[in-house]
Amino acid sequence: MSKNWKLGTKCIQEGYKPKAGEPRILPIAQTVSYKFEDPEHLANLFNLSEAGHLYTRISNPTTEALENKYAALEEGVGAVAVSSGQSAILLSILNLCNAGDHIVSSINIYGGTFNLFNVTLKKLGIEVTFIDPDEEKEEILKLIRENTKAIYGETIGNPSLNILDFEKFAAIAEEAGIPFIIDNTLATPYICKPKEHGANIVVHSTTKYSDGHATSIGGIIIDLGNFNWDNGKFQGLVEPDESYHGLKYWNTFKEAAYITKLRVTLLRDLGCTMSPFNAFLTNLGLETLHLRMQRHSDNALALARWLKEQSKVSWVNYPLLNDNKHYESANKYLKNGASGILTFGIKGDFKIAEKFIKGLKLASLVVTLGDVRTYVIHPYSTTHRQLSEEEKLKSGATPELIRVSIGIEDIEDIIYDFNEAFQCI
Ligand code: PLP
Repeated sequence: MSKNWKLGTKCIQEGYKPKAGEPRILPIAQTVSYKFEDPEHLANLFNLSEAGHLYTRISNPTTEALENKYAALEEGVGAVAVSSGQSAILLSILNLCNAGDHIVSSINIYGGTFNLFNVTLKKLGIEVTFIDPDEEKEEILKLIRENTKAIYGETIGNPSLNILDFEKFAAIAEEAGIPFIIDNTLATPYICKPKEHGANIVVHSTTKYSDGHATSIGGIIIDLGNFNWDNGKFQGLVEPDESYHGLKYWNTFKEAAYITKLRVTLLRDLGCTMSPFNAFLTNLGLETLHLRMQRHSDNALALARWLKEQSKVSWVNYPLLNDNKHYESANKYLKNGASGILTFGIKGDFKIAEKFIKGLKLASLVVTLGDVRTYVIHPYSTTHRQLSEEEKLKSGATPELIRVSIGIEDIEDIIYDFNEAFQCI
């Protein structure tokens, strides 16, 4: 990994480094298993005393190239790619928590993550306390318990678009002796580098801007290698692991202890592996991340400014509008723009919002975000519908809100499309 390359160069050059005679473009290792020289070689791989690929559920050369590229982009010590963003979030927590443990999370998070935390983790015996991320530091610290194992948030909350106060979250994590896990999906490393602001573990739904073309569901966990696991709270990382003849992750792998344990225990046992083909496509998408993110951000700011002038719009939420609540934190933590998601309120009830959505021709109604095409959605009745009324409002999914995931088409055509749709209501 070259430390001196700028992000755009890393997007293209990191991960796959072919030797003479090998394919210049990352090949797809569409294989389940690998050939071994002798039983001793295989035994060493099983014992983790030698590095190498053993079985694609645990690692694969194509997926490894993607992992190495992402570790370079986030300046981490290692990464594990998995089958979805949801798997990435789940594994990032299960690698720290057992039944009886607890985490603290911002409430301004993706609805699917909220459900995972609020319902499924609870069933596994892991309790989550949700907080308003704008709450005072001292108030949040009061919620930290003996069994609290992490604090969690999203760089740009989906769909509230609040910008997380990294400084505060990092200070809480440090004081409590727990890692700060950040979902950097909406920002990507082009817009925000969580490591520069005190995060310890980064997760992404690579389904979104990383792939960027909506071809592959995927997720990744990146270990930033900057947490001391030997502080008495994380026995799983420090004490002998029975399933590896008493291996101690912290002793053996030091700053890469967390990510090694995640791969060799959780990926091995739960099997939520990214397919090599999805790794290939995601890697291909990442090669243009820096170009796409700039265009997404420029288009979003232009559309946000235009929407503000429209009489049928009651409000517009984009962090880089100068009257936005998060304008200051956006300028503090984001660079090169504020990504391609914006929300706005349409005057009238949901029926009017529906008419507007039906009037769009270029932008389509789709349950995803973060690819080259422009999309709209009404989170209140779709992505957030399983939440209670109170939870929906708390997470920012209000009834009049329309979320736009702006593509990288020409902005004049996007504005024309929105203008035509406003004529339909
Ligand atoms: N994190 C964020 C911020 C998301 O927006 C999403 C999905 O929309 C996820 C995680 C879950 O990712 P996936 O759909 O890849 O499981």
